[in-house]
Amino acid sequence: MSCGIHYLASVFMAVTPNFVCGFPGNVSNILFHNSSASSIQDIWTLWTSTENYVVVQLENGEIWEINQCSRSKREVSLDLAYEYKGNKSVFSCSDGFLYDDTKWKSTVVTQWDLVCDREWLAKLIQPTFMLGVLIGAVIFGDIADRLGRQRVIWFTSAGQFVFGIAVAFTFDYYSFVTVRFLLAMVSSGYLVVAFVYVTEFVGIKARTWASMHVHAFFAMGIMIVALVGFLVRTWWVYQIFLSIATVPFVLCCWMLPETPFWLLSEERYEDAQKVINTMARWNKVNTPCKVSELCSVQQEDPVSGRTGENDMSSTKKHNILDLFCNWQIARRTITVWLIWFTGSLGYYVFSLSSVSLGGNEYLNLFLIGLQYINYFSKYGWKIFNRCGIWPYISLHSRTVPNNCKITCCWKWKHDVPCRKCGCSFLCISEKRLDFHATWQLKKKGCACPWTAGRLAGCAENHTLFPQLPVLSEKVRFFFLCLCILEMAAPKVAVVGAGVIGLSTALCIVEACPSCSVTVLSDQFSPNTTSDVAAGMLIPHTYPGTPIHMQKQWFKETFTYLFAISNSAEASEAGIHLVSGWQIFRSTPKEELPFWSDAVLGFRPMSEAELQKFPQYRFGQAFTTLKCDCPPYLLWLEKRLKAAGVQTYNRKVSDLWELHSEYDIVVNCTGIGAHQLVGDKKLFPVRGQVLKVYAPWVKNFIRDGDGLTYIYPGIHGVTLGGTREKESWSLSPNPDTTKDIFDRCCSLEPSLREAQDIKVKVGLRPSRQSVRLQREVLSQGGVKLPVVHNYGHGAGGFSVHRGTAKEAARLVGECIAALRGSSPGAKL
Ligand code: FAD
Repeated sequence: MSCGIHYLASVFMAVTPNFVCGFPGNVSNILFHNSSASSIQDIWTLWTSTENYVVVQLENGEIWEINQCSRSKREVSLDLAYEYKGNKSVFSCSDGFLYDDTKWKSTVVTQWDLVCDREWLAKLIQPTFMLGVLIGAVIFGDIADRLGRQRVIWFTSAGQFVFGIAVAFTFDYYSFVTVRFLLAMVSSGYLVVAFVYVTEFVGIKARTWASMHVHAFFAMGIMIVALVGFLVRTWWVYQIFLSIATVPFVLCCWMLPETPFWLLSEERYEDAQKVINTMARWNKVNTPCKVSELCSVQQEDPVSGRTGENDMSSTKKHNILDLFCNWQIARRTITVWLIWFTGSLGYYVFSLSSVSLGGNEYLNLFLIGLQYINYFSKYGWKIFNRCGIWPYISLHSRTVPNNCKITCCWKWKHDVPCRKCGCSFLCISEKRLDFHATWQLKKKGCACPWTAGRLAGCAENHTLFPQLPVLSEKVRFFFLCLCILEMAAPKVAVVGAGVIGLSTALCIVEACPSCSVTVLSDQFSPNTTSDVAAGMLIPHTYPGTPIHMQKQWFKETFTYLFAISNSAEASEAGIHLVSGWQIFRSTPKEELPFWSDAVLGFRPMSEAELQKFPQYRFGQAFTTLKCDCPPYLLWLEKRLKAAGVQTYNRKVSDLWELHSEYDIVVNCTGIGAHQLVGDKKLFPVRGQVLKVYAPWVKNFIRDGDGLTYIYPGIHGVTLGGTREKESWSLSPNPDTTKDIFDRCCSLEPSLREAQDIKVKVGLRPSRQSVRLQREVLSQGGVKLPVVHNYGHGAGGFSVHRGTAKEAARLVGECIAALRGSSPGAKL
């Protein structure tokens, strides 16, 4: 309330009433248009514009025209008339100014003649105050983190009173502005810290409500300004009354204890425990939470990536740069700052100019205050409840030392109070919140939110701010757009960074640019199965998947890669066209495979061509595409990064562990799904290949049984292969190596000269059909939509783009389902 008072005090204190130049002597007559008067006071009611002037006749007979900022003497003093066409001598206002004191007996403007060429000084009164507000917020926010909330509240509230009174006794403009600057600093420090204080003490469920109502009291302060302004018309008396209004708060704040939140961050566990005990006593709880139990949480520091054990001291200290520690956080930071800038601008411009709205100034201001309270209580806190309070706090102060975390706007999804003591101050958990934090919450004796709660995704926690309803339509529209954009950003985790995971993530961001996509994987290129693959676009047939679907996936993949092969990026992406032959010892059952019209120039081999392979009776010639796998995976990663997708090295042991951080999870874990989701239909088909240097080999050769193949790529030739069902061994087998080499040399004898032979082994994630479907995991009423995209067996590269597009479509369905669900839904 005291902040509302001092922030708005200048509305009446620095008002400029009507005024004119002082008269150059004793006046006998005054003329204003057709009206004559004996005193200037009679003129003010007729005064309509700053362009007006009065004509005065002095006792010595001189006639003067008195303007606001100058006065002129008529050279010819004929009869007193308002209009005059003769010569005039212009003089400055060396006798000071005459002010209309009908409404204000005295203001700082009238006190120090802040008009005409000193008008700019009056205009600086509020900006210098706001500068003090800015500096005070930064300084005291920081001091409060270092010395504690309690001390800063003591100091700033006392400062408010002292400087508030001192303002009334300033002797000139400069001392007035200086003392008000100090007053602004302590007031803003007080506001910041009081707000933080409230949020740190009030339990999670009531915090939004309480935070909003702190500002409702600010609005009450505005109403007090209107009331005192109406009753007291002399600026310094008005200032004293306003300052005295803050006395109750000055007295009360000495009784306030330090917040347990801050005490814990300073490792003053015993003091924190005392406060907790007091809270428990007030709440009639017999067994309060033990601080030692609250702190027994393992965490992984998301910025450093390290895992810290237990103690608060291991928490990394962050600074303001952490607000820009990655693109997503930087985006949120800028969004929140923009919103605050817009909101504050609208709020103060509207409030401070209320006296110029016309009508009764006091009533205007009073109603503005009342309206704010109305909005705070009626809409504001509801909006915040829906959207989360944290971004709002972030600009107010470092509530905790970790700015970065606060801006990320996490909050607990389930506000589960401590089951033992019911205490809900356990918002200390925010200290550990972060955007992509990995939380390994250890169950401890005390089942407080640290252990029972879960983090909710950012999507539901984006900010609105309380000034929304009073802003102009355009401003409202602007920031509503921001909020909608933010709120419409579902968080999607793609687990797996093989060709399927990366291409799926890419398809999701392409289909849903507002989605916040993260790739989590325990292995990235060059350590995935996809890195081992030959990367040839010759489909493998999935018996459990309809052929038309397989054909569509293949066609989409072919079209996509063909476009890349025709672009300047072909070399970097490792994609190129390659022609060759698929040969058979006997005529195959299906002479025309389903994909024959998807590749280029598919035709039966001629007799002449078949002469190259004397052991073979039938063959097909065609041109297809080949990916050099590691370059292609790196290219995909690069595209993802450019699209703002985060990648994290993380092993997921259970998809459910992601439910607190993400709205939707996409499972692209290849053979890893066997363990991750316990899919017994998924089995490995071990494949061993040789990667050799043989640049003279230009055409591919594939034995129709798919076992022996020679696939030339941009950087080397892949020789294959083997198919060992249910074998989990990743160690190369030397006998198999020799066998592969011999088989390939029998098809292409020149390979005997191949150099730089490397052996690779990979486990094809095989299934009757690719698992491409939605599933909803559910625990305790909380749901997590999952899209599976794994089980591509020997043909992952051949269909990756098609299946990724389908998976992205399923993610779109999940988003639609979430949006359409109850208000409590994550989105
Ligand atoms: P992977 O590449 O294995 O990726 C799975 C990802 O999930 C990895 O990043 C892994 O670290 C991650 N992961 C797994 N479990 C977890 C977990 N619990 N937590 C976090 N991350 C996890 N296909 C073709 O189309 N043409 C070919 O010419 C071809 N040649 C091949 C040759 C060989 C020798 C082999 C073995 C395969 C070949 N394939 C070919 C098949 C192709 O390689 C696969 O179908 C494809 O690589 C599967 O991709 P994926 O992304 O599903 O799996």
